[in-house]
Amino acid sequence: MPGFEYIGEAEHRQVLEVMASGVLMRYGFDGPRKGQWKCRELEENLATRFGVRRAHVCSSGTSALSTALAVCGVGAGDEVVLPPFTFVADLETVLLAGAVPVFADIDETLCLDPRSVAAAMTPRTKAVLVVHMCGAMARIDAIMELCRTHQVTLIEDAAQAAGATFHGKPLGTFGRVGCLSFDYVKTITCGEGGAVLTDDEETYRLAQAYTDHGHDHAGADRGADGHPHIGANFRLSELHAAVGVAQLARLDDILQVQRRHKAMLKDGLAGIRGLQFRELPDPAGDSATFLSLLLPSEHDARQAAKALAEAGVDGCFYWYDNNWHYHRKWDHIKTFTSPGRLAIDRFGYGSDLTKITLPQSDAVIGRTISMLIKLRWTEEHVRDRLARMKSVLA
Ligand SMILES: *Cc1c(COP(=O)(O)O)cnc(C)c1O
Repeated sequence: MPGFEYIGEAEHRQVLEVMASGVLMRYGFDGPRKGQWKCRELEENLATRFGVRRAHVCSSGTSALSTALAVCGVGAGDEVVLPPFTFVADLETVLLAGAVPVFADIDETLCLDPRSVAAAMTPRTKAVLVVHMCGAMARIDAIMELCRTHQVTLIEDAAQAAGATFHGKPLGTFGRVGCLSFDYVKTITCGEGGAVLTDDEETYRLAQAYTDHGHDHAGADRGADGHPHIGANFRLSELHAAVGVAQLARLDDILQVQRRHKAMLKDGLAGIRGLQFRELPDPAGDSATFLSLLLPSEHDARQAAKALAEAGVDGCFYWYDNNWHYHRKWDHIKTFTSPGRLAIDRFGYGSDLTKITLPQSDAVIGRTISMLIKLRWTEEHVRDRLARMKSVLA
């Protein structure tokens, strides 16, 4: 998923425009900036590209998640249903909001299983935080329907799925708020950055205020703002936004290259006995940032992961043992001292998240190996990689 492979002339030019103006901050300095607003430009382009009424950029995907939770009114004691397979930021931001994380299982989509989400709902459920992992979609239609019937807020984490769609509609545009990340290893990057997407004006109004100490940004220059809300500093700089403007313009090319490389690998591996691909509720909408393979058993997956590394197939992830993306290794949360600690204690995990048992998720992730799809691969490299993969998997 790496836009960093394409940092080139366009990014260079964009950044130099900001340097030439000397105004590095997104707000105020109305005179000196001479009409140049890179954050605004990126927001307008994002709104157009994703087909939403409003996009608001912020400092990271993590701050986008915190903002989403805050503007949806998620706070102390509220329960948030989320998957155990995600980047740890989802758990962190729920805990930092003082809310209670409630894990529902994933299925072979590598995303939330709607049946498990339904089972996890209680009268205290405030939101479902669905994560579109590894470049593709959750069963977002079923999850949306569940949220509607239970009158629970749907928040989407599309940090790993920029450009992916479900039946033609971009991921990140199904919930009340969608979150994107532009960190250095995401599909498009600003170096660091993120965005919230929404169709709801009030949600947008709160989000843009929350990321800037509650400023309402209603006045000319900065002095005329009111700041009626509590907030934080999650602002993105003009330098970062400038890189984002160039990167967003590349998104369709990036998707095309990823899809071509992934299709070659998938075609080549099709039909190998016992080898399954991650289930895609809408294959046409896959952003193809990852290829995910499901082996028949945990034992097979562990052996294959090791053999792939030995065969020189780089960029593979065996998530089950990974301490960023799967709950089993989130033992650092044990030492956490924040409102979230209270939330975990109250929910009865002790304060040890590794004690959570999610056998269905374990059974999926234990069998899964994912591989990053790179943009700079040549066709020859893909063929060579495929041959090495077949020597291990066939
Ligand atoms: C990267 C990522 C985030 C956090 O984004 P940052 O910009 O790194 O803060 C959140 N969720 C998922 C699924 C991610 O992959």
